[in-house]
Amino acid sequence: MKVTEHIEQAKGNTLFSFEVVPPPKGGNIQELYNNIDPLMEFKPPFIDVTTSREEYIYIEREGLLDRKIVRMRPGTVGICASIKHKYQVDTVPHVLCGGFTCEETEYMLVDCHYLGIDNVMALRGDAMKHQRYFEPTRGGHTYANELVSQIKNITRGKYLHDVVESNNMPDFCIGVAGYPEKHLEAPSLDYDLKKLQEKIDAGADYIVTQMFFDNSKFFEFVEKAKSMGITVPIIPGIKPIAVKRHLQLLPQVFKIDLPEELIRAIEQCKDNKEVRQVGIEWCIQQSKELKAAGVPVLHYYSMGKSDNIKAVASSVF
Ligand code: FAD
Repeated sequence: MKVTEHIEQAKGNTLFSFEVVPPPKGGNIQELYNNIDPLMEFKPPFIDVTTSREEYIYIEREGLLDRKIVRMRPGTVGICASIKHKYQVDTVPHVLCGGFTCEETEYMLVDCHYLGIDNVMALRGDAMKHQRYFEPTRGGHTYANELVSQIKNITRGKYLHDVVESNNMPDFCIGVAGYPEKHLEAPSLDYDLKKLQEKIDAGADYIVTQMFFDNSKFFEFVEKAKSMGITVPIIPGIKPIAVKRHLQLLPQVFKIDLPEELIRAIEQCKDNKEVRQVGIEWCIQQSKELKAAGVPVLHYYSMGKSDNIKAVASSVF
């Protein structure tokens, strides 16, 4: 079932969902299940599974350094199928421009079709670690709106190299990313919102936001998006801070601001046990306010940990 259908069925009640990351290549899927199990009591109608793009690694061979491209956490579609089967929930594989040719994307969508997956999250992906800026993969897309168009075309039988008259592909429900504090490369929030509008015009059905720690930024973002004519559901993505290092890491990686009050509370913590508790309490307050404002879904970034999300969800759902 589509994410948008779940939202319609909920009739204004806020749903709970979360995102998981595939284990490193060769890892144990049971560890992923161990993180999902405690969250199933909150009845998520869908679970997202991220996709990692490839990175360069260097291998020494006969005294020379050889550069290889590897994907460290493959298996997104397979994991989506296994979660769907094991927990009887819908899953949302993330589909990336970076690291994939358009043909590979087409085959991934065909796999999704045969596995009964109705939703996909269409994203550009970040630059590789050694790159300053995102560089499109040869034969791949440059921006997420192009990826949305490809997905939409396939649902209409327009494949890259052929048109299929008796096309049976599902009309995928397509999610895209939105940034309450603007995307790091965008010159302004208005510019970024215009680009978000292009993704909706290309056929995206809903938006999930980058994490934020100040709800007023989300509310302003939603107002601005609405004033520009964006009417699709906007789902806030949030995360409880778990360790002191997040104070530097989250702003650095996601180009987001942390509120002074939260920074002060974390700085006063003696150890990460206390930080975890501050993070949970902050996230509970955020969640309660967002829920009271009537957001369709509260979507949590698990980043491989679910105990703190369980603590938040227990107070909110
Ligand atoms: P785009 O929408 O393409 O935008 C990228 C930048 O280009 C923006 O600054 C935008 O303003 C600008 N832009 C957009 N279209 C155009 C255009 N036509 N012309 C000129 N400029 C344009 N990353 C992963 O690697 N794997 C994941 O699983 C993953 N999941 C995510 C889930 C969520 C909910 C979010 C919010 C992010 C996720 N990311 C993931 C990170 C994401 O890939 C990065 O934030 C990436 O840098 C941008 O992706 P995007 O889809 O927003 O790009």
